[in-house]
Amino acid sequence: MSPTGTTDSILSVAVPRPLEKLFTYRVPAELLPKIAVGGWVRVPFGRTVTHAYVVEPPKPMNEIDPGLSPSQLKDVLEAGDELTRIPDDVLELCRWASRYYQTPLGEVLHCAVPAAALGLRNKGEAREHSIEVPGRAEPLDHTREQAAAIADLDAWRLEAKATGKHVALLHGVTGSGKTEVYLELARRTVAEGKGVLILVPEIALTPQLHDRLARGLGEPVALWHSALADGVRRDHWAAVNAGKVRVVIGARSALFAPIRELGLIVIDEEHDQTYKQEDRFRYHARDLSVVRAHRAGAFVVLGSATPCLETRERVAEGRYLLASLKERVAGGALPTVEIVNLGEEVWVEGTQAPIAERTVQAIRETIASGQQVMVFLNRRGFAAFLVCEDCGHVEECPHCSVSLTVHKRKRQLRCHQCGHHAPIPAACAQCAGAKLKPTGAGTESLEEELPKLIPEMKALRLDRDRITSAARLGQVLDDFRAGKANTLLGTQMLVKGHDFPEVTLVVVMLADALFRMPDFRAGEQALQVLTQVAGRAGRGARAGKVLVQTYDPDHPAIQVLRGEMPEADFLAAERELRQGLGYPPFGKLARLRFESDSASEAQRRAEFVAEQLLRLQAGKEDGLEFLGPSEAFLEKVKNTYRWDILLRSRQVQPLQTAVHAARRLSHQQGWEVVVDIDPMGVG
Ligand code: ADP
Ligand code: ZN
Repeated sequence: MSPTGTTDSILSVAVPRPLEKLFTYRVPAELLPKIAVGGWVRVPFGRTVTHAYVVEPPKPMNEIDPGLSPSQLKDVLEAGDELTRIPDDVLELCRWASRYYQTPLGEVLHCAVPAAALGLRNKGEAREHSIEVPGRAEPLDHTREQAAAIADLDAWRLEAKATGKHVALLHGVTGSGKTEVYLELARRTVAEGKGVLILVPEIALTPQLHDRLARGLGEPVALWHSALADGVRRDHWAAVNAGKVRVVIGARSALFAPIRELGLIVIDEEHDQTYKQEDRFRYHARDLSVVRAHRAGAFVVLGSATPCLETRERVAEGRYLLASLKERVAGGALPTVEIVNLGEEVWVEGTQAPIAERTVQAIRETIASGQQVMVFLNRRGFAAFLVCEDCGHVEECPHCSVSLTVHKRKRQLRCHQCGHHAPIPAACAQCAGAKLKPTGAGTESLEEELPKLIPEMKALRLDRDRITSAARLGQVLDDFRAGKANTLLGTQMLVKGHDFPEVTLVVVMLADALFRMPDFRAGEQALQVLTQVAGRAGRGARAGKVLVQTYDPDHPAIQVLRGEMPEADFLAAERELRQGLGYPPFGKLARLRFESDSASEAQRRAEFVAEQLLRLQAGKEDGLEFLGPSEAFLEKVKNTYRWDILLRSRQVQPLQTAVHAARRLSHQQGWEVVVDIDPMGVG
């Protein structure tokens, strides 16, 4: 009950900081009617003023904590109105996420509903950004496969409450017309008066897809991603929260959009790593979307040409449903794949990274015939691993089945999984050759070198460092589509869903960089990336070709790509490996990271906490294991040293309990600990 009469009220709020505790303020009587759970307030905080989230109802002053005195309380300065109140279901989702990811609620809310969404940044901006009601495009005639997938998915959606199965995988090869399936399901959901959320991995894809969706639905569709201008974010959030707009498309954080009566969530390219947020609030948007849908009684469609092993496993167990699209819409064949064995081919002169003459020749021919080329440079390739130039062998950890990374300063090979280390060997363990070379660096120099080798090349470049705004990204893609350049050079971003009919050649500069990530998912992700990259070729009338440069033509992922190994065999092997090691989806992981500007201090903290955890664990037989401590894969970032402990368990609960204990221990010592539940890139 809200207090009445002349007695003052107090209010506990979550501030947008990584702080566990709630902060208490006095509520002036005139503001009290505006205070509601889910609303925002402005409060003095330290020497500044901040917005904060109301997560509990106000209480009468006499219920104040014994530790606080009424005279010390500062006043709430301002309170938001009903229009900016976070709806209950979103707030509850945030509370759930705060517990599961062990991240303070204020931090979660700050990420889910940032100040810009509430119109609390650049408050001066008065211009309204209305969401246009588009002209409706005629629906395409669906292919037989599309029609069948739509019929299945829609039936499953309608009976989800009865069957208890509310997640389906739409497994469709690249170019099979998945978007059309999403669109039809969205159309039917909206026709029932329900809301739809569509997540895509890359903000570059949102404007493109937004148009297609809005016209296809004949409905206003709100765009949501972190690169939108503040005023746009405010108006889109408000329009959705008011129920004026029922469909939202966006990147990861759109998961928290205040959509009313949510009926459908689509996660496009569900395997994509950008769904995992890697700072502050480390959540996985795919996993959380399943939680949100479950609570809302909504249906989830996970779409991909290369679903992740976790999702496949849930399909195999019968927990998720499965619809498939096996053919490309245009009837076009999947591109042919040619392997360029860097160990045998003749290289061109004058480049840091190896490029075969054959590759240069293929690029030239494609450009000469008026078609377009995509060149995939792997930026993550800076991870140096030791490759034998004679036989292609790469040093691996004896305990962890991950590649060892080269630490030049210490002259060691190290495992970032378990801490195993050894001196850099003088000779290859496989062929005894002496030509061991740290590999992975230098691919970026291609941007300068390639056009020198191929004067007729007119290249655009796409990567996260260069392209910081969605508008610039859209511009590069539009320019390429319009034929203003004949070559698109890019990193990971290049692989995502782009549809360029004139591209007939795709070049992968160094596939090995993908295989050798110190990560137990490296093999799976290499195949995903290669399949997606290959899928960019030949989407129009002409057939496509993919050239993959590698030192390791027999790598299982390459064999699959070449059609020499059934994908099922590859996946079965990956699955078996993970099952044996208790990795996801057969076990749970969590990572604790200790950071300090001194390497020894970071190490000391990690060792202290690991020791205490082991002590607490003594005698328990819950299957919880500790790996490490070891230095993080990137041991020093911005002058901060990082040490990790990895926790592994078949069950969730022992892991959560141990993380909780580790956080308490660390906080007692006054240390920060960075928690990552279900971390990616482990190794
Ligand atoms: P995916 O997401 O499965 O890779 P898209 O949804 O991008 O594939 O579709 C590939 C191409 O096929 C797009 O250009 C799309 O407009 C076109 N397309 C999809 N469905 C149909 C259809 N039923 N008839 C004609 N063209 C279609
Ligand atoms: Zn190891």
